[in-house]
Amino acid sequence: MGMHDPFAGYLTVIVITLVIYYFSTAFLTGWLAEKKGYNSVLWGIFGFFFGFIALLTVGFAPNYFGSKKEEIKVNESEVLCGTCGNKVKRQAGIKFCSTCGTNLSI
Ligand SMILES: [Zn+2]
Repeated sequence: MGMHDPFAGYLTVIVITLVIYYFSTAFLTGWLAEKKGYNSVLWGIFGFFFGFIALLTVGFAPNYFGSKKEEIKVNESEVLCGTCGNKVKRQAGIKFCSTCGTNLSI
C-alpha cells in the first residue's frame, strides 16, 4: 500500500477514531469512578475494554464515597459497649458505659 492508496487513508481514519473512542471512554469511566470514590485506574481499564457498558455501570452505581462517609458518621456518634452491647452516645467526658460501667476507652 502506497501513500496515495485511498484504502490506507480510510484505515488510518478508522484506527484513529477507534483509538480516540477507546481512550475517551476509558478516561470518562475512570474520571466518573474517581468522582464516585471507586478505583479510577481499574475502571479506566474496564472503560477501555467494555466502552459504554463500563461507563453506564459506573454512571448508575451508587456513590461509594458518600455511603462510606455516612457509615463513619454513624460510627462516630455511637460507641458499642463490648460487655453489654449497649449503644452509648459519644459525648465529651463520657468514658464509661451508662448501663454496665465498662471502660469504653473513647
Ligand atoms: Zn455496657
